[in-house]
Amino acid sequence: MAMMLLARSLRSPLAVGAAAFSSAPAASAAAAAAAAERAILDGPRNDWSRPEIQAVYDSPLLDLLFHGAQVHRNVHKFREVQQCTLLSIKTGGCSEDCSYCPQSSRYNTGLKAQKLMNKDAILEAAIKAKEAGSTRFCMGAAWRETIGRKTNFNQILEYVKEIRGMGMEVCCTLGMIEKQQAEELKKAGLTAYNHNLDTSREYYPNIITTRSYDDRLQTLQHVREAGISICSGGIIGLGEAEEDRVGLLHTLATLPTHPESVPINALVAVKGTPLEDQKPVEIWEMIRMIATARIVMPKAMVRLSAGRVRFSMPEQALCFLAGANSIFAGEKLLTTANNDFDADQAMFKILGLIPKAPSFGNEEEAAPADTERSEQAASM
Ligand code: SF4
Repeated sequence: MAMMLLARSLRSPLAVGAAAFSSAPAASAAAAAAAAERAILDGPRNDWSRPEIQAVYDSPLLDLLFHGAQVHRNVHKFREVQQCTLLSIKTGGCSEDCSYCPQSSRYNTGLKAQKLMNKDAILEAAIKAKEAGSTRFCMGAAWRETIGRKTNFNQILEYVKEIRGMGMEVCCTLGMIEKQQAEELKKAGLTAYNHNLDTSREYYPNIITTRSYDDRLQTLQHVREAGISICSGGIIGLGEAEEDRVGLLHTLATLPTHPESVPINALVAVKGTPLEDQKPVEIWEMIRMIATARIVMPKAMVRLSAGRVRFSMPEQALCFLAGANSIFAGEKLLTTANNDFDADQAMFKILGLIPKAPSFGNEEEAAPADTERSEQAASM
């Protein structure tokens, strides 16, 4: 029945919304309905005010979930979920003090620092990831920045070329980069560069003191100017207030162009880090964050990222319904445990999800045609 309502709403986003849940506080429910309608009719916008996003975020949860789903179904092929693999190609020993990170050399987490992995090992991992259905291969190095790492950087350029040549999207997360390095990565064929903002500008100094929010925005600018897609999101469960979650989404949604990809992570509290005792994030918090991200950045890939291992299949199903359309596959997510491969395959089958094919360049993804959307909705 709910699906029938959704199918109907595709034709008339105005017809549902606040009225469908009359017991909800009218003003908040109306905010999510209006924002969703505008996202569907007008596409992405960068002029969001923070109170506007706060109003969407504060909507009664079922309204928010419903409107996130509505945007998702209108803007994306909503059954498609991209599988990405994230490999730590240079683990541990990082000089930064990110409070959540077991790879910081400042915390005693028992993690052994390693050198940059060699080409054979990385290419083997990429082939395995491709065979397992991943269409994006992400390489993460625990560095503050790549400046002054010429030899390693040149090796990474080589890895990017090789993996792109295998027909996969390639992403790197190597810390701060300069303009010149972004241009070289672009030339090598890099699809996307990940650099998360983590949280709001206000809460950021509680989490990291060794580089500033503006340093991060600067790296994003270099990536954008080089013509590489931006992958940037954050982590919830760091002890931040809900206003900080809204602040993060507001910064991302008011960048000159929305990130192509927005990872939403739930903190995985690792023993030995300053955040080891943080309370686990609840599924409702993830859904609220994902649905708001989907409404305010309608075209972005919203990635259900770290912390997924703690969520059951029905809980993940709600995240996909709210607007998530990507997961990380593989045993590990950098250094922390990730979901089991077979369990993910079973989940795709049960939920009727379809692995998303890779897409290259920065061409705009074509939205599904109206007929295709109706067929998808009708067959659910
Ligand atoms: S920069 Fe990256 S690897 Fe280094 S401590 Fe921060 S999150 Fe960890």
